[in-house]
Amino acid sequence: MVRLIADPEEMRRTVHEARQAGKTVGFVPTMGYFHRGHLSLMERARAENDLVVVSIFVNPTQFGPSEDFQEYPRDLERDLAMAEEVGVDLVFHPRVEDMYPQPYRTYVVVEGITETLCGAFRPGHFRGVATVVTKLFHIVPAHRAYFGAKDAQQALVIRKMVEDLNFDIEVVICPTVREKDGLAMSSRNVYLQGEERRAATALYASLCAARELLEKGERRSSVILEEMRRVLEREPLVRPEYVEIVDCIDLKPLERVEGEVLIALAARVGKARLIDNLMLRVDEGGIFLLP
Ligand code: AMP
Repeated sequence: MVRLIADPEEMRRTVHEARQAGKTVGFVPTMGYFHRGHLSLMERARAENDLVVVSIFVNPTQFGPSEDFQEYPRDLERDLAMAEEVGVDLVFHPRVEDMYPQPYRTYVVVEGITETLCGAFRPGHFRGVATVVTKLFHIVPAHRAYFGAKDAQQALVIRKMVEDLNFDIEVVICPTVREKDGLAMSSRNVYLQGEERRAATALYASLCAARELLEKGERRSSVILEEMRRVLEREPLVRPEYVEIVDCIDLKPLERVEGEVLIALAARVGKARLIDNLMLRVDEGGIFLLP
């Protein structure tokens, strides 16, 4: 049976005791409303650890004032049943007031890689993410934490934060899980209405177009980006925010697509803000999908 814990102190004590007893601990932080993407992280954690902990917390500090914190989909009962199904041991579901004692004053800021891509459109978002993940890492002192490549910038920001702040935890990045038609799974896909759902496949189609050009030998970012934008423009319901090709370390735009690269895009479709990406290694040997 999956055990539900709301109290941070009880959570920390429980994980601490498991570690003392020699168990390895895997942790999957989430905002809930599970889909197969979330479950893939839990399955990976299950395969690699003795104890699997999942957190479900819609974190207010990573939402901007005009964003969807209130409407964000929630269904704890369904999530618990799904977590149980894949063998999760503990679910941490704290109250906002326990995570953010008022007046709350302490934040974690990762500089330089949080102002670009999504950070440019969501000021303060990664400050909220880095802060809540720091808190969760203290409350759930795990050996390994699992993040999805779907939120590539988030995973790279967390990995850098763990390195810079000497967290004793291994960050594991897992592949993006997609619907049959290529749309990356996201809790926010429930916002898509009617025609918007079909139009949303343009994001992945645009990434596939980029990959095709790369496979034909094209390495100029400008040419690839132009083609990606053209694919997106075919769908008037898709309103792009950014389309970029950056390196995986500094997240700085690349003129040529070489080394470890992130091809990332964000677009609004109806009331949903959707993101997707390809993380690739491009060298003389070919093109390899990361992670
Ligand atoms: P969220 O609940 O959306 O904050 O996501 C929780 C974790 O699941 C994050 O590490 C996400 O990157 C990951 N995740 C979300 N969607 C997917 C997906 N389609 N495939 C793989 N991982 C995902």
